[in-house]
Amino acid sequence: MPIPVLARKGGLHYDAHISSPIGVARTGQGVSMARRKKIYEGKAKVLYEGPEPGTFVQYFKDDATAFNAEKKEVIEGKGVLNNRLSEFFMTGLGNLGVPTHFIKRLNMREQLIRQAEIIPLEVIVRNFAAGTMAKRMGMEEGTALPRPVVEFSYKDDSLGDPLVPEEYIIAFGWASQQEMDDIVSLALRVNDWMSGVMYGVGIKLVDFKIEIGRVWDNDFQRLILADEISPDSCRLWDIETGQKLDKDVFRRDLGNLTDAYTEVAKRLGVMPSNVTHAAAKPTLIN
Ligand code: 5GP
Repeated sequence: MPIPVLARKGGLHYDAHISSPIGVARTGQGVSMARRKKIYEGKAKVLYEGPEPGTFVQYFKDDATAFNAEKKEVIEGKGVLNNRLSEFFMTGLGNLGVPTHFIKRLNMREQLIRQAEIIPLEVIVRNFAAGTMAKRMGMEEGTALPRPVVEFSYKDDSLGDPLVPEEYIIAFGWASQQEMDDIVSLALRVNDWMSGVMYGVGIKLVDFKIEIGRVWDNDFQRLILADEISPDSCRLWDIETGQKLDKDVFRRDLGNLTDAYTEVAKRLGVMPSNVTHAAAKPTLIN
């Protein structure tokens, strides 16, 4: 089993387990990208060296992938929407006192983030049975769970991100017991806030995935919410109609993904002025 070697303090904090960061910028999608040092490219995002030590620029691509990248498509406007939506969620959570990697949005597709050492886990919180849980347990999708359930997958594409018990996480040294306790309470705080915000705009938060990183403030180490929160990493169902407004639209060929994400953005009041403007130069937001 490949046990990840985590970067040490001061080292490169994003390792090969990160799923989110970005790819080669397409013409017109970024400014001066060629001159920037690319740190990591993932399926939906690219990470570039940031302007200050301890920062990265996170670029949101339009690429959509599913089933361990067996299904792939470029969906114009997705990156712009996810950049705005992740900004919205991270800012809201930050205001509530949940520490996040988000510093500020730079333009339509990029945000400035704090470097973090990513713990190689997908932290999944479920309120209703869906996806792999429904399949694994033979449950009907949409069945309400008696309480929110937190589960962990080991981030390794070659293994298909297998579900792992906390016992593995501690034994293999991916996180300590104290960190696991902190991760669960952080995940539940994210769930409470996200569920309420989504409920307020007529959307049920079925489940979501987050990633957690470690940062150092002088000699003090703490955990922060990293990666992204967007309809790529959540299941969002319209409360009235049950319509899916998340990446399952792409995974299951249910219609236009950009329309679904735009609906979420509109309801939350974070609708960007032009989501399909792939050729436009990004605007710097101060
Ligand atoms: P499931 O385990 O049912 O496939 O996914 C549970 C939740 O975590 C869903 O909201 C799903 O979108 C999210 N999730 C699981 N794995 C990934 C992943 O590799 N990338 C992203 N973006 N989200 C994921």
